[in-house]
Amino acid sequence: MTAQRTARGDVAIPVPAAGSGVRMGPGAPKALRLLAGEPLLLHAVRNIAAAPSVGLIVVAAPPNGADTIASMLGNVDIPVRIVLGGATRQASVASALGAVPAEFDLILVHDAARALTPPALIEAVAAKLRAGSSAVIPALPVVDTIKRVGDAAEVVATVDRSTLRAVQTPQGFRRATLTAAHAGAAGDHTDDAGLAEQAGVRVDTVPGDDRAFKITRPFDLAVAEALLAFDGGTPASDAIVGDSRSIDPNVERGTTREG
Ligand code: C5P
Repeated sequence: MTAQRTARGDVAIPVPAAGSGVRMGPGAPKALRLLAGEPLLLHAVRNIAAAPSVGLIVVAAPPNGADTIASMLGNVDIPVRIVLGGATRQASVASALGAVPAEFDLILVHDAARALTPPALIEAVAAKLRAGSSAVIPALPVVDTIKRVGDAAEVVATVDRSTLRAVQTPQGFRRATLTAAHAGAAGDHTDDAGLAEQAGVRVDTVPGDDRAFKITRPFDLAVAEALLAFDGGTPASDAIVGDSRSIDPNVERGTTREG
């Protein structure tokens, strides 16, 4: 069975996947580490491809990773472009954004590391954009009590967690909003909503999903393995057929990755 694509297909998804994964320990770039026997990036792209709104995926690859990724994603039933990532996540997103054709007005930036994100979360972010938002992010309440600490790791204050949210990807934007935010970026930001906020854009939220957690450390990989074993497979395990990949000329851009 192929991924069901609706008539819309109006969403492009830049996927920063160029991180080295130092917090995962020695080994391949994180996007190429294996989860249940398959690369993290393949899990991520399958779940993206299963979201009916998605018309294009642009992967920002780690150094020397573009060919491996191109052959890995060769059977994804959705157009995929591959570009070279940058030294920071922000640079990788900018590189991928540069390869999104002008006809896509809705852009959802989505970390490869959030490989088990349900397609329904992608649809929820896209729907909120279509309803009129300029910027939309998934957010979850913070469950732990949060403390501010000083230089000696001593507690300085307890923060009121009722107004705090832990945010995830995909983070969705109208194209003009995201390109302007990146063009005007001052400093390094760990997410794209931060850039939009800096530019004065209102950022709305939709409820996040526990399965959209970021796979960062070996512990996270173990949790992800357990989730897949629990479910018996990814939500989109049958979404890969055909051959619609393309390697963008932009693949030559950028040279380095995170440390
Ligand atoms: O480093 P962090 O955990 O914030 O990475 C989030 C996402 O950004 C990951 O999918 C990672 O591969 C990507 N990334 C990137 N280029 C970098 C650093 C991180 O594409 N230089």
